[in-house]
Amino acid sequence: MRAKKKLKKVHIAIVGGGAAGMMAAITAARQGARVTVLERQDRVGKKILATGNGRCNLTNVNCSIDNFRGADLYFVRMVLNQFPATKTLEFFNALGVCTQVEDEGRVFPLTGQASTVLDVLRFETERLGVAIRVQANIENISRQGYSFILRWPEGEEQADRVVVTTGGKAAPHLGGNESGIEVLKKMGHTVVPIFPALVPLKVNPHFGSKLKGVKVIAGALLDISGKPAVKEEGEILFTEYGLSGPPILQLSRIANRGRLEDQPVFLVLDLFPFWSAEQLMSNLDQRFSFWPETALDVALIGLIHKRLMPIILHEAKIAEPRKLVSQVSQEERIRIATVLKHWTFEVTGSLSWKEAQVMAGGVCTRDFSAQTLESHLVKGLFAAGEVLDVIGDSGGFNLQWAWSSGYVAGLHSAQT
Ligand SMILES: Cc1cc2nc3c(=O)[nH]c(=O)nc-3n(C[C@H](O)[C@H](O)[C@H](O)COP(=O)(O)OP(=O)(O)OC[C@H]3O[C@@H](n4cnc5c(N)ncnc54)[C@H](O)[C@@H]3O)c2cc1C
Repeated sequence: MRAKKKLKKVHIAIVGGGAAGMMAAITAARQGARVTVLERQDRVGKKILATGNGRCNLTNVNCSIDNFRGADLYFVRMVLNQFPATKTLEFFNALGVCTQVEDEGRVFPLTGQASTVLDVLRFETERLGVAIRVQANIENISRQGYSFILRWPEGEEQADRVVVTTGGKAAPHLGGNESGIEVLKKMGHTVVPIFPALVPLKVNPHFGSKLKGVKVIAGALLDISGKPAVKEEGEILFTEYGLSGPPILQLSRIANRGRLEDQPVFLVLDLFPFWSAEQLMSNLDQRFSFWPETALDVALIGLIHKRLMPIILHEAKIAEPRKLVSQVSQEERIRIATVLKHWTFEVTGSLSWKEAQVMAGGVCTRDFSAQTLESHLVKGLFAAGEVLDVIGDSGGFNLQWAWSSGYVAGLHSAQT
């Protein structure tokens, strides 16, 4: 009897064991490929554990192309369509993760633990026989005939295909760095300039410890080169160096890009986004006519946060906050209302990569197929996740990009 010839499995090396890398590994292994994940840290998925304040906002049920930024949104759409948020939920539900939908469509595991997400990914890679090699900081990828050789200081690995999922430079303590970008650049790919995004902003004036910890619901308008650029609304946090909170993180990408292009960038806070300027003035008029013989700072109690009061009056150039309301001129009232509706700060920078959640910019998507995520320059080489020039808004969209692109790269690397 003639012995059956055993077909050699295609061997895929995944560089980076984060969200995109683990998804790529599972998808490729499910297609029957032999898969090795090469991770520079001492364990995979460290960043996943830190997401969503340790709860992992793993996707968003309202996910649409409007939640993404990058040079080529058609590219992003092509990838998301192959693995949308509904598929993410199916994928994790099938691995046993129960989920709950919270504000604005954000999805979290019901356990409230990011470790649930990492655990099921690890168990699934184990079940599929994916090899995981940690402390393998890949510094070079080269072609040798039809194979690739991946090198790190202590070793090397040979593979038929490679998927680069090294993430971005944000959060270096969780593995963030730009080595993957460098490796892809050496192989001929173009890099779009990178800068931190979803990061608190430094502003001038800032009020140091005087306002540290104060939270307000406000509108935040970004003004670039004298033109209103984009507006957000929500809870804003005053910090020692400037401003934070969801609306500020959301605006930080455009603010940092403006500064990178040497444009003057200002942030205008509206502390009463739910009132028109007239409504605010009428409230001031009412309380001032009701308590004419009360000190100004007492008459404003109930309208302005107590710790903000002296600063607001100072910004409105009112030298004596204790003077009687009857002595406050109409012009001074208008100045108070103007600060409350249009409190203007110059953006002087942002916090560093350490405090950023994501990296804007990255490897240019033009160099990759939107259908398969294979490089147009190097056959057999794929990329996925944050290493590419794509980011999402805050709200689960960055992990959705990692899952979608990891899936597409994993699937097509195993099939081509
Ligand atoms: C504090 C924090 C909270 C966040 N919360 C959320 C959230 O709740 N929801 C959301 O959608 N997004 C969130 N994000 C963003 C999200 O975590 C990332 O966008 C996502 O993890 C990117 O996935 P990735 O696989 O591309 O990269 P990563 O998850 O960063 O994984 C890359 C992996 O590659 C490894 N690596 C890097 N270089 C090499 C190399 N040369 N050789 C081998 N391995 C290498 C790294 O060590 C890392 O393990 C958060 C980010 C941070 C920092």
